[in-house]
Amino acid sequence: MAPRHIAILGGGLTGLSSAFHLSRRFPSSTITIIEKQKRLGGWAANTERVQLPGGRGSVIIEGGPRTLRPSANSVLELIHLLGLSDSVVTTPKSSPAAKNRFLHVPGTPGIYKIPGVSLSYLWSELRFFITPGVSFEFVRGWNRPQGVLDESMESFMTRRGHPVTARVLGSAMVHGIYAADARLLSVRAAFPKLWELEEKGKGRILWGLLTRSKQEKEAEKQKEEEDRKRYEMGDVPKLVDGAAVYSFRDGMGTLAEALSRSVSKNPNIRILSGTEVSALQFDDENGFEITTDKTNPIQPSHVVSALSLPALNKIIPDAHPLPYLTTNPSSSVTAINLVFPTDKIYPPGFGYLVCRPEDDYAADDAGILGVTFDSTAHDALTPGGERVTKVTVMMGGPHRAPDTSLPVVLAHLQYHLNRRKPLPEPLAVRVWQHRNCIPTPLPGHLERMGKLREALSEGVWGGRLEVIGAGVRGVSVGDCVESGKMVGMEW
Ligand SMILES: Cc1cc2nc3c(=O)[nH]c(=O)nc-3n(C[C@H](O)[C@H](O)[C@H](O)COP(=O)(O)OP(=O)(O)OC[C@H]3O[C@@H](n4cnc5c(N)ncnc54)[C@H](O)[C@@H]3O)c2cc1C
Repeated sequence: MAPRHIAILGGGLTGLSSAFHLSRRFPSSTITIIEKQKRLGGWAANTERVQLPGGRGSVIIEGGPRTLRPSANSVLELIHLLGLSDSVVTTPKSSPAAKNRFLHVPGTPGIYKIPGVSLSYLWSELRFFITPGVSFEFVRGWNRPQGVLDESMESFMTRRGHPVTARVLGSAMVHGIYAADARLLSVRAAFPKLWELEEKGKGRILWGLLTRSKQEKEAEKQKEEEDRKRYEMGDVPKLVDGAAVYSFRDGMGTLAEALSRSVSKNPNIRILSGTEVSALQFDDENGFEITTDKTNPIQPSHVVSALSLPALNKIIPDAHPLPYLTTNPSSSVTAINLVFPTDKIYPPGFGYLVCRPEDDYAADDAGILGVTFDSTAHDALTPGGERVTKVTVMMGGPHRAPDTSLPVVLAHLQYHLNRRKPLPEPLAVRVWQHRNCIPTPLPGHLERMGKLREALSEGVWGGRLEVIGAGVRGVSVGDCVESGKMVGMEW
């Protein structure tokens, strides 16, 4: 029987996609979305159009997510169902924005191109950091200690390769996705493919990657095709065919806005924005009782929590605690958008990542995790006529309280980009302070989430509360939308 009334806590992308999919699956159920902020969309609603001085027009800037991966079928499905195909802007795999990704090593001016998976790395300026890792990885056999079910990304890369490669490449990769310390992040939760390839290659990841037989590749392709059948994607996959990443002409906010518009038109969905949930209790008659700071108590039969795990921990009854809601830390990030009045700021490319310095984070006073070259990646977002250049500087994470004042950030950029002359005065600057915005799954996360799921399916909870979102599975937009599609399957 369809649930009588589903309450969705949190109106970020996870909550909105849950409402969208649940309302399709249970058209007769009442759905209430409760969101603390006035605006729906959470981190994915941080798109702004800024007006540039001197009649230069306006540009789109992103304070939150900026790129999507074509492999996320759940997002392609939403694009199809919400009619967003015409807004999609792709970055082809063949373009410099896809091919050129750089790395800055603190203490050395300049940025270096990260080579692809080929022997070309032997000519790369980064070869001294890469060679030890690749060589050891190739010659070492199975060395995973018995009983180890997970470990940090850094420990994994050190065990399979070399500590220098782990510190330089591993830390930079983790900065780019999780804004976190690779010594803390669970390799199985964040990069499950690496763990699988190690098993497949009987210890050797590269061997596992290079020795996939024709049959295995064929089987993988078939599995992908089978998986695609679960999604209504229309012709959208063709749109993103050959793309490394994509976004929307008016920025990532397009997705959250279209979802909000769609759910708000549905007469069975009630949206309580600007409303904070303060308690979730059991109610013998109705199932649950939700207390908020604005409304009368809400009495749903089923609940989806699309909140961060610590936020959920604050509202559940003391008598019925749930395990592991506060185990993982999360990263805070300062994102700074800069718009410059010239196109000669950086080489064509996606941007650069900064690795952890040899003497740990305190040795890098810049506190920069990475910089995206937004104009190369999404040319269509810049206005026509006079060219301007957009960059986004991501700071913070494991760096404690970096100096985010403009002259300091510009001086660091000048050093990173190895420019003799200072950078020109930006036409526009926007600073976003995101507190605890990306969770860091610690080793053992997958096992702990399994136990949380078990606890939710038993006793008083009885499977009527589902906990999803960036804190539970992956943090990407694709993972969040997927969890919204799959929620409540057992109801
Ligand atoms: C700076 C940044 C850059 C990123 N870049 C990318 C990228 O390029 N590509 C990509 O795929 N992903 C990226 N991500 C990750 C992705 O954007 C997020 O993981 C995703 O948007 C999280 O969605 P969510 O709905 O799970 O959580 P949230 O967006 O955090 O939504 C949770 C909602 O719950 C609300 N809430 C909290 N407490 C309460 C309460 N008590 N009562 C009611 N409501 C409450 C919050 O206000 C919020 O709106 C990025 C994230 C950040 C922060």
